[in-house]
Amino acid sequence: MASRVVAFGAHAFDVEATAGGVLAKLRRRGSEITIVHMTLGERGYRAGGRTGAYAGQKKGEAERSASVLGATVRVLEYEDTHLPDDDEAKLAVCDLLRELRPDLVFTHWQGSWHKDHRAAHALVMDGCFFAALPGVQRARPAWAVSEVWFPENWEDPVDFRPQHYEDISDTYEQWLEAMDAYALARENLAAFPYRDFYTSLARVRGCQAGVRYAQAFMVAEPLRMRIYNQFAK
Ligand SMILES: [Zn+2]
Repeated sequence: MASRVVAFGAHAFDVEATAGGVLAKLRRRGSEITIVHMTLGERGYRAGGRTGAYAGQKKGEAERSASVLGATVRVLEYEDTHLPDDDEAKLAVCDLLRELRPDLVFTHWQGSWHKDHRAAHALVMDGCFFAALPGVQRARPAWAVSEVWFPENWEDPVDFRPQHYEDISDTYEQWLEAMDAYALARENLAAFPYRDFYTSLARVRGCQAGVRYAQAFMVAEPLRMRIYNQFAK
């Protein structure tokens, strides 16, 4: 049972859509949940843009969605489609991990055709590496994350094979409400039918898991996480 959980998404809405049912379930069991949006995803629909009203709308939606899930939200405010994949950003993630001290972390699977999603994967996995190394001297002491789970995202399908299923039947309605905080789901704002895809997928994964609704994950190599724990001691 994770006492602290941090879920990193490249764009506001990624995490809620792909892992919201599980985040709500972990919250009900007493975990503290933080959702970190690396960008607002302000270019995610044709009338969006860096400075337009859509960015502000997305921020408000992110706050409402997190509050439905019982989560705290952080927005890193990198630029949508330009999420950097460099050591400076990895150290920013390291600092956040050392501050929030999560046992369980969620982030994108590496097999993505979206450049921001691939960058988010690298930032979080290398951020975990930096965070665990006491020799990487920052304001806070080393912290080793115990587990990283990669949710199932329609933009991250390359070599994604579910390794872990979580029953979300009890939090399904709460998850829908969290998704519907976003016009992307509620009003089918973008070209992709997000709500249809993720609700159908939850039923498919539920069929495979023998429950009503489930969300599926890949899991970071246990050996890698164990080594990080040895570093941090
Ligand atoms: Zn995204």
